[in-house]
Amino acid sequence: MPERKYRCPECGRTNLKVEVKLFARLIQKGPRRISCNIEPGDLEQQFYDRWGKYDPMECNDCGHANSAYTFETAYQEQERKRRTNV
Ligand SMILES: [Zn+2]
Repeated sequence: MPERKYRCPECGRTNLKVEVKLFARLIQKGPRRISCNIEPGDLEQQFYDRWGKYDPMECNDCGHANSAYTFETAYQEQERKRRTNV
């Protein structure tokens, strides 16, 4: 399996963040008092692989945001080749 690498397609930096999906503990204190809470132990178990190629990714340096796959270096290389062959 090829190694996945990510960088910002705008500025080329690798200081990135991605939206992740997590399970949170449901807290019900009454019909109108329903909330949820994430405990530190939950995070350690849940962070692995909780996002996919279509989830939002954002560059911390320039603010560029798009689907995660557009940040993949392999995708950017493929797009560059496609543009130069047209
Ligand atoms: Zn950037």
